[in-house]
Amino acid sequence: MHINDAVFLEDLCPKFRLRQWRKSIHKFTGKSCIYCGKPSESIDHVLPRSQGGLSTTENCVPACLSCNGDKSDENALYWYRRQKFYDPRRAMAIRAWLEGDLRLALRLLQWANPNFQVRNTNYDNDEYKAA
Ligand SMILES: [Zn+2]
Repeated sequence: MHINDAVFLEDLCPKFRLRQWRKSIHKFTGKSCIYCGKPSESIDHVLPRSQGGLSTTENCVPACLSCNGDKSDENALYWYRRQKFYDPRRAMAIRAWLEGDLRLALRLLQWANPNFQVRNTNYDNDEYKAA
């Protein structure tokens, strides 16, 4: 019965859960685009939904509208390699993210951008303030 209850709760408030989840994705990178470092305004599916990509944290990264729109339905890693702002450290970060290793991904992002502050705490804190 406990499993059924959990499913029921999830069905009850999917919009709330989706909003919280989207927020948490942006928080991981301090609201910066994983590809170019500009402010992230959207969530990008690394493996596009049209190619079977799922809406899971591993497949969804914070992206600015420019990157998200330009990438469109392409595979993110192939697309990213052709960009003039390509940075191998960010490419490694994206790979780590895809493998579900967010800690490594954030460390690589910090390496790529020394101004980027990794926030290891308060991911669940709605009072989070961007620097
Ligand atoms: Zn971008």
